[in-house]
Amino acid sequence: MKFADLGLSQELLQSVEAAGYDEPTPIQAQAIPSVLMMRDLIGIAQTGTGKTASFVLPMIDILAHGRRRARMPRSLILEPTRELAAQVAENFEKYGTNHDLKMALLIGGVQMADQVKALDEGVDVLIATPGRLMDLFERGKILLTGCDLLVIDEADRMLDMGFIPDIETICEKLPTQRQTLLFSATMPPPIKKLADRFLTNPKNIEV
Ligand code: AMP
Repeated sequence: MKFADLGLSQELLQSVEAAGYDEPTPIQAQAIPSVLMMRDLIGIAQTGTGKTASFVLPMIDILAHGRRRARMPRSLILEPTRELAAQVAENFEKYGTNHDLKMALLIGGVQMADQVKALDEGVDVLIATPGRLMDLFERGKILLTGCDLLVIDEADRMLDMGFIPDIETICEKLPTQRQTLLFSATMPPPIKKLADRFLTNPKNIEV
C-alpha cells in the first residue's frame, strides 16, 4: 500500500514525503480512506503505531477542502493529558504547513487568557484535554456548534483518569450530525458503551 493510494490530496502527500515516511503504517492504510469518506471509526491501536497521523492527515484534508464558514472550530481532538495534546498539536503543525489552518491547544497549566485570545481570533481545530475544554465552554468562550469532526484519542486512558462523564457532556454539546473517531489501546465495557452511544455504524480497525 502506498500513501498515494489512500485518497489524500497532493499537498498532504508532500507533507508525508517531507516527514520522510515511505509507506503508511497498517492503521494509516486502513483508517485514512475511511475517515476521508466521512465514516465513524473505532481504532484499536497503541501509541507508536502511527495512529496520530491516521486521523490528523485526513482531518487536514477535510478541513482544507470543506466549505469555509466564519472561522469557528470545525474539529475537536480530545486527549487525556497535556503532553499528548501537545504532541498532537506538533503533528498538526508538521503535516499542516501547506495549509492555512489555525488551531488552539487547550490544556491545563497554561494561562487561560492566551487560549481565550487564540479562540477570539478564530480557529479551525481545537486540541484539548477534557477539563480545560469544559472550563472554557462553561465560561462561554467556545462555540462547539460547528464542530462536526470529533476525535476521542486514548479512550481507555480517559476512562482511567475519570474523564468519561466530561466526554459525554462534550459529545452532547456537539452537532448530532457529525463524524466521530475513537481510538483506544483496549476496549473495556465502559468504552464500548461510550462508542455505542456516540458513534454511528463505525468502521472497526484493530492493529
Ligand atoms: P504515533 O503512534 O502517532 O505516536 O506515531 C509514532 C511515530 O511514528 C511518530 O514519531 C511518527 O512521526 C512516526 N510515523 C507515523 N507514521 C509513520 C509512517 N508512515 N512511517 C514512518 N514513521 C511514521
